[in-house]
Amino acid sequence: MTDSAVQAVALVKRYGNARTGKTALAGLDLTVERGEVFGFLGPNGAGKTTFIRLLLDLIRPTSGTVRVLDADPRDNAALRGRIGYLAGDFRIDGRQTAREALTYLGDLRGGVPAGRIAELAERLDLDLTRRISTLSKGNRQKVGVVQAFMHTPELLILDEPTSGLDPFLQQRFVEMVQEAGAGGQTVLMSSHVMSEVQQTCRRVGVIREGELVTVADVDKLRQSAHRKVEITFAGPVDAEYLEALPGLQNAAVTATPDGGSVLRAILTGSPDTLVKAAARYETTGLLAEEPELEEIFFTFYQDAPRRNGSKGAAA
Ligand code: ADP
Repeated sequence: MTDSAVQAVALVKRYGNARTGKTALAGLDLTVERGEVFGFLGPNGAGKTTFIRLLLDLIRPTSGTVRVLDADPRDNAALRGRIGYLAGDFRIDGRQTAREALTYLGDLRGGVPAGRIAELAERLDLDLTRRISTLSKGNRQKVGVVQAFMHTPELLILDEPTSGLDPFLQQRFVEMVQEAGAGGQTVLMSSHVMSEVQQTCRRVGVIREGELVTVADVDKLRQSAHRKVEITFAGPVDAEYLEALPGLQNAAVTATPDGGSVLRAILTGSPDTLVKAAARYETTGLLAEEPELEEIFFTFYQDAPRRNGSKGAAA
């Protein structure tokens, strides 16, 4: 037994033939430790769903290896009860009621107490007596959330899980993921909703064009990230001096109608030099925006070297 819940080594997936086909994963190496909540980010078409489908043995790799809970995904009969899976477009036979469908899925996974299904349904405000075909997309997605969590699986694999859920339920969902993590379950989640990732994941992997661009600690990323600053001064300032301070980008001083000035810039590191320089003048306002994770990752998507070695900024 190893400590990893998911381990991919040199994983390649090509769709179609060698000449005209599409390389969705180009040698992905990734390890998700047991007990961690790991976020999987990347622009559309990066290969996230392909990776997740390989873990579930819904498709098979072209080359490379992948292990899930120390097993080969092909062993899916043994793995089924140990994994909870939810995709953004959860689909299920519509003739049954939500309760019947969930009980059936629970039985496939070794049995789930009716009380557990009822408790999760209540949390998500899901009516279990309704026939699935009569449910809205959002309510159907709730059925998906319940089936993924109900057997308290060792590993939760969530692929854009909250698409279709309203913001209130997204928050409920975030709490459920946090609880799963606190209880020692492993979570691998791809998401476009950065606030969701921020609130749940300790580490994130960024994938782009089928390769892992970076794996980073969410807190460290936020600390090291650029932030927008704005300092307002009571009177005129030496614009040339302030704009040339080290650690600032796009710095610009403008005059305000009341005879004061304002410095706007992107702070790229420690605020120390800026604070000391500003302290020469009377300051009347200070704003330093925490960067959104989205902005941080946008830089990764854009600046990471492409496979052919050129920069991706023009893409
Ligand atoms: P993501 O989930 O990050 O949006 P996907 O894994 O869905 O990315 O897709 C990765 C790439 O593989 C995309 O270019 C996509 O068009 C392509 N792709 C995905 N599934 C198939 C398929 N069944 N046949 C051919 N190409 C596919």
